[in-house]
Amino acid sequence: MKSLIELQFDNRFARLGDVFSSHVLPEPIAEPRLVVASAAAMALLDLDPAEAESEVFAKLFAGHTLWSAAEPRAMVYSGHQFGGYNPRLGDGRGLLLGEVVNQSGEYWDLHLKGAGQTPYSRMGDGRAVLRSSIREFLASEHLHALGIPSSRALCVTGSSTPVWREKQESAAMVLRLAPSHVRFGHFEYFYYTQQHESLKQLAEHVLHNHYAACAQQEQPYLAMFREIVERNATMIAYWQAYGFCHGVMNTDNMSILGITFDYGPYAFLDDFDGNFICNHSDDSGRYSFSNQVPIAQWNLAALGQALVPLVEVDALRETLSLFLPLYQAHYLDLMRKRLGLLSADDGDEALVQRLLQLMQGSALDYNNFFRELGNSPADQGVARLRDDFTDLAGFDAWAVDYLARSAQDDDEPAQRLERMHAANPKYILRNYLAQQAIEAAEQGDYAPVRELHQVLSRPFDEQPGFEHYAQRPPEWGKHLEISCSS
Ligand code: AMP
Ligand code: MG
Repeated sequence: MKSLIELQFDNRFARLGDVFSSHVLPEPIAEPRLVVASAAAMALLDLDPAEAESEVFAKLFAGHTLWSAAEPRAMVYSGHQFGGYNPRLGDGRGLLLGEVVNQSGEYWDLHLKGAGQTPYSRMGDGRAVLRSSIREFLASEHLHALGIPSSRALCVTGSSTPVWREKQESAAMVLRLAPSHVRFGHFEYFYYTQQHESLKQLAEHVLHNHYAACAQQEQPYLAMFREIVERNATMIAYWQAYGFCHGVMNTDNMSILGITFDYGPYAFLDDFDGNFICNHSDDSGRYSFSNQVPIAQWNLAALGQALVPLVEVDALRETLSLFLPLYQAHYLDLMRKRLGLLSADDGDEALVQRLLQLMQGSALDYNNFFRELGNSPADQGVARLRDDFTDLAGFDAWAVDYLARSAQDDDEPAQRLERMHAANPKYILRNYLAQQAIEAAEQGDYAPVRELHQVLSRPFDEQPGFEHYAQRPPEWGKHLEISCSS
Protein backbone atom coordinates (compact mmCIF):
# COMPACT_ATOMS: atom_id res chain seq x y z
CA MET A 1 0.00 0.00 0.00
CA LYS A 2 1.12 3.49 -0.78
CA SER A 3 0.21 6.87 0.53
CA LEU A 4 -1.00 9.55 -1.85
CA ILE A 5 2.23 11.47 -1.93
CA GLU A 6 4.18 8.38 -2.96
CA LEU A 7 2.49 7.93 -6.37
CA GLN A 8 4.96 7.47 -9.22
CA PHE A 9 4.34 9.46 -12.38
CA ASP A 10 5.55 8.86 -15.91
CA ASN A 11 3.73 11.31 -18.17
CA ARG A 12 4.09 9.79 -21.60
CA PHE A 13 1.28 11.70 -23.28
CA ALA A 14 2.46 15.06 -21.90
CA ARG A 15 5.87 14.35 -23.43
CA LEU A 16 4.32 14.26 -26.90
CA GLY A 17 4.33 18.04 -26.55
CA ASP A 18 2.22 21.06 -27.29
CA VAL A 19 0.86 19.83 -30.62
CA PHE A 20 -1.15 17.23 -28.67
CA SER A 21 -2.08 19.04 -25.49
CA SER A 22 -1.72 22.33 -23.60
CA HIS A 23 -0.38 22.89 -20.12
CA VAL A 24 -3.24 24.11 -17.89
CA LEU A 25 -3.45 24.21 -14.10
CA PRO A 26 -6.66 23.11 -12.38
CA GLU A 27 -8.87 25.90 -11.10
CA PRO A 28 -9.86 24.90 -7.56
CA ILE A 29 -13.42 24.60 -6.32
CA ALA A 30 -14.31 26.09 -2.92
CA GLU A 31 -14.61 24.22 0.38
CA PRO A 32 -13.86 20.80 -1.07
CA ARG A 33 -15.41 17.73 0.52
CA LEU A 34 -15.25 14.07 -0.34
CA VAL A 35 -18.61 12.85 -1.64
CA VAL A 36 -17.67 9.26 -2.42
CA ALA A 37 -14.55 7.24 -3.17
CA SER A 38 -14.04 3.79 -4.65
CA ALA A 39 -11.77 1.51 -2.65
CA ALA A 40 -11.49 -0.79 -5.68
CA ALA A 41 -10.29 2.09 -7.87
CA MET A 42 -7.89 3.24 -5.16
CA ALA A 43 -6.39 -0.25 -5.18
CA LEU A 44 -5.46 0.26 -8.84
CA LEU A 45 -3.07 2.94 -7.63
CA ASP A 46 -1.98 0.81 -4.63
CA LEU A 47 -3.65 3.34 -2.34
CA ASP A 48 -4.88 2.49 1.13
CA PRO A 49 -8.67 3.18 1.20
CA ALA A 50 -8.19 5.14 4.45
CA GLU A 51 -6.37 7.80 2.43
CA ALA A 52 -9.71 8.95 1.04
CA GLU A 53 -10.57 10.46 4.39
CA SER A 54 -7.42 12.58 4.56
CA GLU A 55 -7.63 16.31 4.00
CA VAL A 56 -5.06 16.23 1.23
CA PHE A 57 -7.21 13.77 -0.75
CA ALA A 58 -10.13 16.21 -1.06
CA LYS A 59 -7.69 19.03 -1.82
CA LEU A 60 -5.89 17.11 -4.56
CA PHE A 61 -9.11 16.12 -6.27
CA ALA A 62 -10.59 19.60 -6.02
CA GLY A 63 -7.65 21.25 -7.76
CA HIS A 64 -6.13 22.95 -4.67
CA THR A 65 -2.82 21.16 -4.73
CA LEU A 66 -0.87 18.92 -7.08
CA TRP A 67 1.96 16.40 -6.98
CA SER A 68 5.18 18.01 -8.15
CA ALA A 69 5.54 15.21 -10.73
CA ALA A 70 2.06 15.74 -12.21
CA GLU A 71 1.96 17.61 -15.53
CA PRO A 72 -1.63 18.70 -16.05
CA ARG A 73 -2.58 18.90 -19.73
CA ALA A 74 -5.72 19.61 -21.73
CA MET A 75 -5.77 17.33 -24.78
CA VAL A 76 -6.84 18.50 -28.23
CA TYR A 77 -9.26 16.40 -30.28
CA SER A 78 -12.20 16.84 -32.63
CA GLY A 79 -14.97 14.46 -33.59
CA HIS A 80 -18.31 13.69 -35.16
CA GLN A 81 -21.16 14.86 -32.96
CA PHE A 82 -24.60 13.53 -33.92
CA GLY A 83 -23.23 12.74 -37.36
CA GLY A 84 -21.69 16.14 -38.13
CA TYR A 85 -18.00 16.91 -37.94
CA ASN A 86 -16.88 19.38 -35.28
CA PRO A 87 -13.32 20.41 -36.13
CA ARG A 88 -12.26 21.50 -32.68
CA LEU A 89 -13.27 19.99 -29.38
CA GLY A 90 -10.66 18.96 -26.82
CA ASP A 91 -10.68 18.81 -23.03
CA GLY A 92 -12.91 21.78 -22.29
CA ARG A 93 -13.37 20.97 -18.64
CA GLY A 94 -11.11 18.08 -17.81
CA LEU A 95 -7.37 17.75 -17.37
CA LEU A 96 -5.05 14.82 -17.71
CA LEU A 97 -3.12 15.34 -14.46
CA GLY A 98 -0.55 12.71 -15.33
CA GLU A 99 0.09 9.00 -15.71
CA VAL A 100 0.64 6.96 -12.56
CA VAL A 101 2.58 3.71 -12.69
CA ASN A 102 1.45 1.21 -10.06
CA GLN A 103 3.45 -1.57 -8.39
CA SER A 104 2.54 -4.02 -11.17
CA GLY A 105 3.84 -1.61 -13.78
CA GLU A 106 0.36 -0.70 -15.03
CA TYR A 107 -0.23 2.86 -16.19
CA TRP A 108 -3.30 4.78 -15.09
CA ASP A 109 -4.22 8.21 -16.43
CA LEU A 110 -5.48 10.52 -13.71
CA HIS A 111 -8.08 12.73 -15.36
CA LEU A 112 -9.78 15.42 -13.31
CA LYS A 113 -13.15 16.31 -14.84
CA GLY A 114 -14.61 19.71 -13.95
CA ALA A 115 -11.17 21.28 -13.39
CA GLY A 116 -11.95 24.66 -14.98
CA GLN A 117 -11.51 26.37 -18.31
CA THR A 118 -8.95 25.38 -20.91
CA PRO A 119 -8.11 26.59 -24.44
CA TYR A 120 -10.81 24.14 -25.59
CA SER A 121 -13.66 25.33 -23.38
CA ARG A 122 -15.32 27.29 -26.19
CA MET A 123 -18.35 28.91 -24.49
CA GLY A 124 -18.31 26.55 -21.49
CA ASP A 125 -17.41 27.30 -17.90
CA GLY A 126 -15.07 24.35 -17.54
CA ARG A 127 -17.12 22.92 -14.72
CA ALA A 128 -19.03 19.75 -13.95
CA VAL A 129 -21.97 19.70 -11.56
CA LEU A 130 -22.40 17.37 -8.59
CA ARG A 131 -25.24 15.49 -10.28
CA SER A 132 -23.28 14.53 -13.41
CA SER A 133 -20.11 13.75 -11.44
CA ILE A 134 -22.01 11.31 -9.23
CA ARG A 135 -23.62 9.75 -12.29
CA GLU A 136 -20.22 9.22 -13.95
CA PHE A 137 -18.74 7.81 -10.74
CA LEU A 138 -21.57 5.34 -10.09
CA ALA A 139 -21.70 4.11 -13.68
CA SER A 140 -17.95 3.67 -14.10
CA GLU A 141 -17.58 1.50 -11.04
CA HIS A 142 -20.84 -0.39 -11.62
CA LEU A 143 -20.13 -1.26 -15.26
CA HIS A 144 -16.73 -2.51 -14.22
CA ALA A 145 -18.32 -4.68 -11.53
CA LEU A 146 -20.71 -6.06 -14.15
CA GLY A 147 -17.71 -7.08 -16.25
CA ILE A 148 -18.35 -4.40 -18.87
CA PRO A 149 -15.16 -2.68 -20.08
CA SER A 150 -15.18 0.85 -18.69
CA SER A 151 -13.08 3.75 -17.52
CA ARG A 152 -12.94 3.84 -13.72
CA ALA A 153 -13.64 6.51 -11.14
CA LEU A 154 -11.59 7.17 -8.02
CA CYS A 155 -13.76 9.76 -6.29
CA VAL A 156 -16.14 12.66 -6.47
CA THR A 157 -15.32 15.90 -4.69
CA GLY A 158 -18.11 18.38 -3.96
CA SER A 159 -17.83 22.09 -3.26
CA SER A 160 -19.66 25.31 -2.50
CA THR A 161 -18.72 26.84 -5.88
CA PRO A 162 -21.94 27.78 -7.67
CA VAL A 163 -22.48 26.70 -11.28
CA TRP A 164 -25.34 27.76 -13.50
CA ARG A 165 -27.11 25.17 -15.66
CA GLU A 166 -30.91 25.25 -16.04
CA LYS A 167 -30.80 26.29 -12.40
CA GLN A 168 -28.03 27.04 -9.93
CA GLU A 169 -26.11 23.94 -8.92
CA SER A 170 -22.78 23.29 -7.24
CA ALA A 171 -19.47 22.43 -8.91
CA ALA A 172 -17.89 19.04 -8.36
CA MET A 173 -15.00 17.09 -9.80
CA VAL A 174 -14.74 13.42 -10.65
CA LEU A 175 -11.34 11.78 -10.87
CA ARG A 176 -11.41 9.36 -13.77
CA LEU A 177 -8.91 6.56 -14.30
CA ALA A 178 -8.18 4.84 -17.59
CA PRO A 179 -5.05 3.39 -19.18
CA SER A 180 -5.49 6.04 -21.88
CA HIS A 181 -7.72 9.02 -22.60
CA VAL A 182 -7.10 8.94 -26.35
CA ARG A 183 -10.38 9.01 -28.25
CA PHE A 184 -11.31 8.31 -31.88
CA GLY A 185 -11.57 12.10 -32.14
CA HIS A 186 -7.84 12.51 -31.44
CA PHE A 187 -7.07 10.72 -34.70
CA GLU A 188 -9.75 12.65 -36.55
CA TYR A 189 -8.26 15.96 -35.41
CA PHE A 190 -4.84 15.22 -36.90
CA TYR A 191 -6.35 13.70 -40.03
CA TYR A 192 -8.69 16.58 -40.87
CA THR A 193 -6.08 19.23 -40.07
CA GLN A 194 -3.75 17.30 -42.39
CA GLN A 195 -1.04 16.99 -39.76
CA HIS A 196 -0.06 13.54 -40.94
CA GLU A 197 3.27 13.43 -39.14
CA SER A 198 1.50 14.10 -35.85
CA LEU A 199 -1.15 11.54 -36.78
CA LYS A 200 1.63 9.00 -37.15
CA GLN A 201 3.18 10.06 -33.85
CA LEU A 202 -0.18 9.57 -32.14
CA ALA A 203 -0.58 6.14 -33.75
CA GLU A 204 2.90 5.18 -32.56
CA HIS A 205 2.08 6.36 -29.05
CA VAL A 206 -1.11 4.29 -28.88
CA LEU A 207 0.49 1.28 -30.58
CA HIS A 208 3.51 1.03 -28.31
CA ASN A 209 1.81 1.95 -25.05
CA HIS A 210 -1.56 0.25 -25.46
CA TYR A 211 -1.38 -2.30 -28.28
CA ALA A 212 2.15 -3.56 -27.85
CA ALA A 213 1.32 -7.02 -29.26
CA CYS A 214 0.20 -5.41 -32.56
CA ALA A 215 3.59 -3.74 -32.92
CA GLN A 216 5.06 -7.20 -33.61
CA GLN A 217 2.68 -7.81 -36.55
CA GLU A 218 3.56 -7.31 -40.18
CA GLN A 219 1.19 -4.35 -40.49
CA PRO A 220 1.11 -2.90 -36.96
CA TYR A 221 -1.45 -0.12 -37.55
CA LEU A 222 -3.81 -2.46 -39.35
CA ALA A 223 -3.44 -5.03 -36.56
CA MET A 224 -4.21 -2.29 -34.06
CA PHE A 225 -7.33 -1.24 -35.97
CA ARG A 226 -8.42 -4.89 -36.04
CA GLU A 227 -8.03 -5.07 -32.26
CA ILE A 228 -9.94 -1.81 -31.78
CA VAL A 229 -12.77 -3.17 -33.94
CA GLU A 230 -12.86 -6.35 -31.87
CA ARG A 231 -12.80 -4.53 -28.53
CA ASN A 232 -15.65 -2.29 -29.65
CA ALA A 233 -17.63 -5.31 -30.79
CA THR A 234 -17.17 -6.81 -27.32
CA MET A 235 -18.10 -3.62 -25.52
CA ILE A 236 -21.25 -3.08 -27.58
CA ALA A 237 -22.24 -6.74 -27.10
CA TYR A 238 -22.14 -6.13 -23.35
CA TRP A 239 -24.16 -2.95 -23.63
CA GLN A 240 -26.85 -4.68 -25.66
CA ALA A 241 -26.92 -7.81 -23.52
CA TYR A 242 -27.21 -5.86 -20.25
CA GLY A 243 -29.48 -3.10 -21.52
CA PHE A 244 -27.01 -0.24 -21.25
CA CYS A 245 -27.71 2.85 -23.31
CA HIS A 246 -24.78 5.29 -23.57
CA GLY A 247 -26.72 8.21 -24.98
CA VAL A 248 -23.95 10.26 -26.69
CA MET A 249 -21.93 8.00 -28.96
CA ASN A 250 -20.12 10.86 -30.64
CA THR A 251 -16.67 9.90 -31.87
CA ASP A 252 -15.08 12.19 -29.28
CA ASN A 253 -16.68 10.02 -26.60
CA MET A 254 -15.27 6.76 -28.00
CA SER A 255 -12.16 5.46 -26.27
CA ILE A 256 -9.36 4.09 -28.39
CA LEU A 257 -9.23 1.21 -25.86
CA GLY A 258 -12.81 0.05 -26.49
CA ILE A 259 -13.97 0.87 -23.00
CA THR A 260 -17.19 2.64 -22.01
CA PHE A 261 -16.22 6.26 -21.74
CA ASP A 262 -17.54 9.78 -21.09
CA TYR A 263 -20.74 9.06 -19.25
CA GLY A 264 -23.52 11.56 -19.82
CA PRO A 265 -27.25 10.91 -20.03
CA TYR A 266 -26.80 7.11 -19.99
CA ALA A 267 -29.43 4.69 -18.71
CA PHE A 268 -29.98 1.01 -18.16
CA LEU A 269 -33.25 -0.26 -19.57
CA ASP A 270 -35.95 -0.85 -17.00
CA ASP A 271 -38.70 -2.26 -19.26
CA PHE A 272 -37.30 -3.68 -22.47
CA ASP A 273 -37.62 -1.20 -25.33
CA GLY A 274 -35.37 -1.46 -28.36
CA ASN A 275 -36.32 2.08 -29.40
CA PHE A 276 -35.44 3.58 -26.04
CA ILE A 277 -33.69 6.99 -26.24
CA CYS A 278 -32.04 7.92 -22.96
CA ASN A 279 -30.73 11.32 -24.07
CA HIS A 280 -33.44 13.95 -23.86
CA SER A 281 -31.53 16.06 -26.43
CA ASP A 282 -31.39 13.25 -29.03
CA ASP A 283 -34.52 14.18 -30.98
CA SER A 284 -34.01 11.80 -33.88
CA GLY A 285 -33.03 8.81 -31.78
CA ARG A 286 -29.64 8.52 -33.46
CA TYR A 287 -28.32 6.97 -30.25
CA SER A 288 -31.36 4.86 -29.35
CA PHE A 289 -30.70 1.52 -27.68
CA SER A 290 -30.90 -0.62 -30.86
CA ASN A 291 -28.99 1.93 -32.93
CA GLN A 292 -25.91 1.51 -30.75
CA VAL A 293 -24.78 -1.42 -32.90
CA PRO A 294 -24.80 0.34 -36.31
CA ILE A 295 -23.56 3.56 -34.70
CA ALA A 296 -20.54 1.78 -33.24
CA GLN A 297 -19.72 0.57 -36.73
CA TRP A 298 -20.25 4.09 -38.10
CA ASN A 299 -17.84 5.42 -35.47
CA LEU A 300 -15.26 2.79 -36.35
CA ALA A 301 -15.61 3.83 -40.00
CA ALA A 302 -14.88 7.41 -38.94
CA LEU A 303 -11.77 6.19 -37.13
CA GLY A 304 -10.78 4.09 -40.15
CA GLN A 305 -11.10 7.19 -42.35
CA ALA A 306 -8.67 9.02 -40.08
CA LEU A 307 -6.18 6.15 -40.48
CA VAL A 308 -6.19 6.31 -44.29
CA PRO A 309 -2.80 8.11 -44.45
CA LEU A 310 -1.30 5.20 -42.47
CA VAL A 311 -3.05 2.07 -43.73
CA GLU A 312 -4.22 0.89 -47.13
CA VAL A 313 -7.90 1.72 -47.51
CA ASP A 314 -9.11 -1.69 -48.72
CA ALA A 315 -7.51 -3.37 -45.74
CA LEU A 316 -9.26 -0.93 -43.42
CA ARG A 317 -12.57 -1.58 -45.11
CA GLU A 318 -12.14 -5.33 -44.89
CA THR A 319 -11.26 -5.09 -41.20
CA LEU A 320 -14.26 -2.89 -40.52
CA SER A 321 -16.49 -5.57 -42.03
CA LEU A 322 -15.47 -7.85 -39.15
CA PHE A 323 -17.35 -5.69 -36.67
CA LEU A 324 -20.83 -7.10 -37.18
CA PRO A 325 -19.97 -10.81 -37.10
CA LEU A 326 -17.70 -10.27 -34.09
CA TYR A 327 -20.44 -8.33 -32.34
CA GLN A 328 -23.06 -10.97 -33.11
CA ALA A 329 -20.89 -13.80 -31.81
CA HIS A 330 -20.09 -11.96 -28.56
CA TYR A 331 -23.68 -10.89 -28.08
CA LEU A 332 -25.03 -14.38 -28.58
CA ASP A 333 -22.47 -15.78 -26.15
CA LEU A 334 -23.59 -13.33 -23.50
CA MET A 335 -27.28 -13.98 -24.10
CA ARG A 336 -26.73 -17.72 -23.87
CA LYS A 337 -25.14 -17.14 -20.50
CA ARG A 338 -28.02 -14.92 -19.45
CA LEU A 339 -30.46 -17.68 -20.44
CA GLY A 340 -28.42 -20.30 -18.62
CA LEU A 341 -27.53 -22.22 -21.78
CA LEU A 342 -24.29 -24.13 -21.73
CA SER A 343 -23.77 -25.26 -25.30
CA ALA A 344 -24.26 -23.39 -28.57
CA ASP A 345 -27.03 -24.24 -31.01
CA ASP A 346 -27.89 -22.84 -34.44
CA GLY A 347 -31.37 -21.88 -33.25
CA ASP A 348 -30.12 -19.74 -30.35
CA GLU A 349 -30.12 -16.47 -32.25
CA ALA A 350 -33.78 -16.89 -33.20
CA LEU A 351 -34.61 -17.92 -29.64
CA VAL A 352 -33.09 -14.69 -28.31
CA GLN A 353 -34.74 -12.52 -30.97
CA ARG A 354 -38.15 -14.03 -30.29
CA LEU A 355 -37.77 -13.37 -26.58
CA LEU A 356 -36.88 -9.72 -27.19
CA GLN A 357 -39.87 -9.33 -29.50
CA LEU A 358 -42.12 -10.72 -26.79
CA MET A 359 -40.56 -8.39 -24.22
CA GLN A 360 -41.08 -5.38 -26.47
CA GLY A 361 -44.55 -4.17 -25.60
CA SER A 362 -44.78 -6.26 -22.42
CA ALA A 363 -44.22 -4.10 -19.37
CA LEU A 364 -41.64 -6.37 -17.79
CA ASP A 365 -38.30 -5.52 -16.30
CA TYR A 366 -35.47 -6.52 -18.63
CA ASN A 367 -32.74 -7.35 -16.11
CA ASN A 368 -35.01 -8.77 -13.41
CA PHE A 369 -36.44 -11.20 -15.97
CA PHE A 370 -33.12 -13.05 -16.31
CA ARG A 371 -32.39 -13.01 -12.59
CA GLU A 372 -35.83 -14.47 -11.90
CA LEU A 373 -35.39 -17.06 -14.63
CA GLY A 374 -32.32 -18.35 -12.83
CA ASN A 375 -33.90 -18.42 -9.38
CA SER A 376 -35.57 -21.79 -9.88
CA PRO A 377 -35.50 -24.71 -12.34
CA ALA A 378 -36.26 -23.59 -15.89
CA ASP A 379 -39.86 -24.91 -16.04
CA GLN A 380 -40.81 -23.19 -12.78
CA GLY A 381 -39.04 -20.04 -13.88
CA VAL A 382 -40.98 -19.65 -17.12
CA ALA A 383 -44.25 -20.47 -15.34
CA ARG A 384 -43.65 -17.67 -12.84
CA LEU A 385 -42.63 -15.12 -15.45
CA ARG A 386 -45.42 -15.90 -17.91
CA ASP A 387 -47.96 -13.44 -16.53
CA ASP A 388 -45.69 -10.49 -17.22
CA PHE A 389 -46.02 -10.98 -20.98
CA THR A 390 -48.71 -9.39 -23.12
CA ASP A 391 -48.66 -12.09 -25.79
CA LEU A 392 -49.28 -15.14 -23.61
CA ALA A 393 -49.63 -17.60 -26.49
CA GLY A 394 -46.42 -16.28 -28.00
CA PHE A 395 -44.61 -16.66 -24.69
CA ASP A 396 -45.94 -20.18 -24.16
CA ALA A 397 -44.62 -21.20 -27.57
CA TRP A 398 -41.27 -19.61 -26.77
CA ALA A 399 -41.18 -21.34 -23.36
CA VAL A 400 -41.70 -24.77 -24.96
CA ASP A 401 -38.72 -24.18 -27.23
CA TYR A 402 -36.62 -22.71 -24.44
CA LEU A 403 -37.28 -25.65 -22.13
CA ALA A 404 -36.47 -28.11 -24.90
CA ARG A 405 -33.30 -26.17 -25.60
CA SER A 406 -32.32 -26.07 -21.90
CA ALA A 407 -32.89 -29.81 -21.65
CA GLN A 408 -30.17 -30.36 -24.30
CA ASP A 409 -27.63 -29.17 -21.75
CA ASP A 410 -26.70 -31.84 -19.26
CA ASP A 411 -27.01 -29.75 -16.18
CA GLU A 412 -27.64 -29.89 -12.42
CA PRO A 413 -30.22 -27.39 -11.09
CA ALA A 414 -27.82 -26.07 -8.44
CA GLN A 415 -25.14 -25.43 -11.04
CA ARG A 416 -27.64 -23.72 -13.31
CA LEU A 417 -28.67 -21.38 -10.51
CA GLU A 418 -25.09 -20.51 -9.65
CA ARG A 419 -24.20 -19.97 -13.29
CA MET A 420 -27.23 -17.83 -14.03
CA HIS A 421 -26.71 -15.70 -10.94
CA ALA A 422 -23.12 -15.10 -12.02
CA ALA A 423 -24.40 -13.81 -15.39
CA ASN A 424 -27.52 -11.97 -14.26
CA PRO A 425 -27.14 -9.07 -11.85
CA LYS A 426 -29.60 -8.66 -9.04
CA TYR A 427 -28.67 -4.97 -8.76
CA ILE A 428 -28.58 -2.57 -11.70
CA LEU A 429 -27.86 1.15 -11.72
CA ARG A 430 -31.34 2.38 -12.50
CA ASN A 431 -31.82 6.07 -13.14
CA TYR A 432 -34.25 6.45 -10.27
CA LEU A 433 -31.70 5.00 -7.83
CA ALA A 434 -29.04 7.44 -9.02
CA GLN A 435 -31.59 10.25 -8.82
CA GLN A 436 -32.48 9.50 -5.19
CA ALA A 437 -28.81 9.41 -4.19
CA ILE A 438 -28.13 12.65 -6.09
CA GLU A 439 -31.00 14.48 -4.41
CA ALA A 440 -29.67 13.49 -0.99
CA ALA A 441 -26.12 14.51 -1.95
CA GLU A 442 -27.38 17.88 -3.17
CA GLN A 443 -28.73 18.36 0.37
CA GLY A 444 -25.30 17.46 1.80
CA ASP A 445 -26.14 13.86 2.73
CA TYR A 446 -23.58 11.57 1.08
CA ALA A 447 -24.61 8.36 2.87
CA PRO A 448 -27.11 7.27 0.16
CA VAL A 449 -24.63 7.64 -2.73
CA ARG A 450 -21.97 5.76 -0.75
CA GLU A 451 -24.40 2.96 0.06
CA LEU A 452 -25.64 2.75 -3.53
CA HIS A 453 -22.05 2.56 -4.75
CA GLN A 454 -21.35 -0.30 -2.31
CA VAL A 455 -24.42 -2.27 -3.39
CA LEU A 456 -23.72 -1.74 -7.10
CA SER A 457 -20.12 -2.81 -6.76
CA ARG A 458 -21.36 -6.36 -6.01
CA PRO A 459 -24.22 -6.53 -8.50
CA PHE A 460 -24.39 -10.33 -8.75
CA ASP A 461 -24.45 -11.02 -4.99
CA GLU A 462 -27.55 -11.43 -2.88
CA GLN A 463 -27.23 -8.66 -0.33
CA PRO A 464 -29.68 -9.24 2.52
CA GLY A 465 -31.19 -6.02 3.80
CA PHE A 466 -30.58 -4.21 0.50
CA GLU A 467 -33.24 -5.90 -1.64
CA HIS A 468 -35.08 -2.62 -2.13
CA TYR A 469 -32.28 -1.57 -4.49
CA ALA A 470 -33.38 -4.33 -6.87
CA GLN A 471 -36.89 -2.96 -7.20
CA ARG A 472 -38.35 -1.67 -10.42
CA PRO A 473 -38.73 2.09 -10.69
CA PRO A 474 -41.68 3.80 -9.07
CA GLU A 475 -43.95 5.77 -11.44
CA TRP A 476 -41.95 9.02 -11.01
CA GLY A 477 -38.70 7.24 -11.82
CA LYS A 478 -39.76 5.63 -15.09
CA HIS A 479 -39.31 8.52 -17.47
CA LEU A 480 -36.61 10.71 -16.01
CA GLU A 481 -35.35 13.14 -18.61
CA ILE A 482 -31.58 13.37 -18.65
CA SER A 483 -30.00 15.82 -21.06
CA CYS A 484 -26.43 16.49 -22.17
CA SER A 485 -26.20 19.56 -19.92
CA SER A 486 -23.87 18.56 -17.13
P1 AMP B 1 -19.35 16.04 -23.60
O1 AMP B 1 -20.74 16.30 -24.09
O2 AMP B 1 -19.23 16.11 -22.10
O3 AMP B 1 -18.74 14.81 -24.15
O4 AMP B 1 -18.48 17.27 -24.11
C1 AMP B 1 -18.31 17.63 -25.47
C2 AMP B 1 -17.30 18.74 -25.56
O5 AMP B 1 -17.75 19.89 -24.85
C3 AMP B 1 -15.93 18.41 -24.97
O6 AMP B 1 -14.97 19.10 -25.72
C4 AMP B 1 -16.03 18.98 -23.58
O7 AMP B 1 -14.79 19.25 -23.01
C5 AMP B 1 -16.84 20.24 -23.83
N1 AMP B 1 -17.59 20.65 -22.64
C6 AMP B 1 -18.68 20.06 -22.10
N2 AMP B 1 -19.11 20.73 -21.02
C7 AMP B 1 -18.28 21.78 -20.86
C8 AMP B 1 -18.19 22.85 -19.94
N3 AMP B 1 -19.06 22.99 -18.95
N4 AMP B 1 -17.19 23.75 -20.10
C9 AMP B 1 -16.32 23.63 -21.11
N5 AMP B 1 -16.35 22.66 -22.02
C10 AMP B 1 -17.32 21.74 -21.91
MG1 MG C 1 -17.13 14.01 -24.19
